[in-house]
Amino acid sequence: MAAATRLISRLTLVTGGGSGIGRAVCQRLASEGASVVVADISEESAHDTLGSLQRDLRGQGHMAAVVDVSSKESTHYFQPPSVCVNAAGITQDDFLLNMDEDHFDNVIRVNLKGSFLVLQAVAQALVACGAPKGSIVTVGSIVGKVGNIGQANYSASKAGVEGLTRTAAKELSRFGIRCNCVLPGFISTPMTDKVPEKVISRMKSLVPLGRMGEPAEVADVCAFLASDDSRYITGVSLEVTGGLFIG
Ligand code: NAD
Repeated sequence: MAAATRLISRLTLVTGGGSGIGRAVCQRLASEGASVVVADISEESAHDTLGSLQRDLRGQGHMAAVVDVSSKESTHYFQPPSVCVNAAGITQDDFLLNMDEDHFDNVIRVNLKGSFLVLQAVAQALVACGAPKGSIVTVGSIVGKVGNIGQANYSASKAGVEGLTRTAAKELSRFGIRCNCVLPGFISTPMTDKVPEKVISRMKSLVPLGRMGEPAEVADVCAFLASDDSRYITGVSLEVTGGLFIG
């Protein structure tokens, strides 16, 4: 099927849709014909993304929703989307020796517990309505595999997201629900804008493809995993890193 029509009339939920990778995912899925729910904790950002979306081909329209992925109340009422990309995430970096317990808890709560709550809510809704198939994409990080100085909390949360996704893939395959994880490397977004320039240039020098990635390059992979083009793929983690930390 041509990429431009792969997701026609599919209801899709994108968390963290107000910025960076999540926004690019919303734009990519909408351009393929999906009806997109832009979910974000920031109402203003979600509406900014909504305003940038191409109209879906069946005219069902897109919508913005204020959602805190780390709160069960906030995630339990979703209509069953057949595609979900959970891109909401935060960093609160510090060296391990100085890290506040609160900073550890906050990052685990949003990145790991948030992924669990969204994945569980979507899967429960799909199973309850007897939907024949679903595709859930979580966003981990390459640092969940290799670690990163100053990111004990974040790398632990992202390693957890991978384990969660693999387990979900095993449990949910009998319901026709596929679960896969993307592992971005260093991508230009507001999240990495906070990283000091000297760290960025050192990281770039380590990337075999010689540059940071663009949010759209992660969104392309999410769209593939969301679509039936990946129908025989579940439980994988796909690195989108320009070759950073190969092998
Ligand atoms: P970003 O800061 O640009 O976007 C994150 C979005 O998540 C924001 O719109 C924010 O409002 C939203 N958000 C934060 N907490 C939320 C919550 N509790 N509920 C709902 N929404 C919430 O960051 P990004 O770089 O686009 O990151 C997107 C995802 O990609 C994150 O999971 C991040 O960890 C992951 N990631 C990013 C990179 C990178 O280099 N940028 C690398 C690896 C992984």
